[in-house]
Amino acid sequence: MRLILLGPPGSGKGTQGVRLAERLGVPQISTGDLFRKNLAESTELGRKAQEYMSKGQLVPDKLVLDMVDDRLKQGDTAKGFILDGFPRTIPQADGLGTMLEAHGTKIDHVVLIDLDDEEIVGRLSARRTCSKCGAIYHLIASPPKKENVCDKCGSVGTLEQREDDVPETIRKRLVVYHDQTQPLVDYYSKAGLLRTVDGAQSPTKVAQDIVRAVDA
Ligand code: AMP
Repeated sequence: MRLILLGPPGSGKGTQGVRLAERLGVPQISTGDLFRKNLAESTELGRKAQEYMSKGQLVPDKLVLDMVDDRLKQGDTAKGFILDGFPRTIPQADGLGTMLEAHGTKIDHVVLIDLDDEEIVGRLSARRTCSKCGAIYHLIASPPKKENVCDKCGSVGTLEQREDDVPETIRKRLVVYHDQTQPLVDYYSKAGLLRTVDGAQSPTKVAQDIVRAVDA
């Protein structure tokens, strides 16, 4: 299955993407994670992307599309993939369509995880991410079992606040989302691919709704 998870920052795309990927046996591809990995490895792409990420802006389409094109050429995507945080602009969506067409495939479903702005600022301010394995926590709603120890990989002291999860940058990211990414709701709705789930529910309920939406 080839699926896109669409939604504002903090709507739970990362959490849901990991769950769905495990369930479906396909990779989760997060462009944000790929940029952060490049940054951690000090690649040129990572350094270029960081200029935009730290300001809450989008990385230019060409850089994103080249990176995704490379990723989709890897063998593990043959049975499908879950895209998380990509596409984020109309040119990216067009570019993805062209890439898939070249491989004789297409997107099966686009799931919008809907959440309003007030909820997002609260969620992202309390988000902590394991710098080692990428596991995501919310300090109040889903804290790690032991303070500052990652439940998933057991690392101590690696739960960090992302540089762009501070209120001023969160607000910028929301403006960017409404301006540049929200038009994709209409884009995929017109293509007959869009399903919407309520992101304000518990992660388990959101996961159930997504499975129901893509099975329907
Ligand atoms: P995320 O982890 O999805 O919230 O992404 C973090 C940041 O990475 C974003 O605020 C952007 O600066 C950059 N980024 C991730 N995915 C994309 C994309 N598809 N297009 C442009 N920039 C992106």
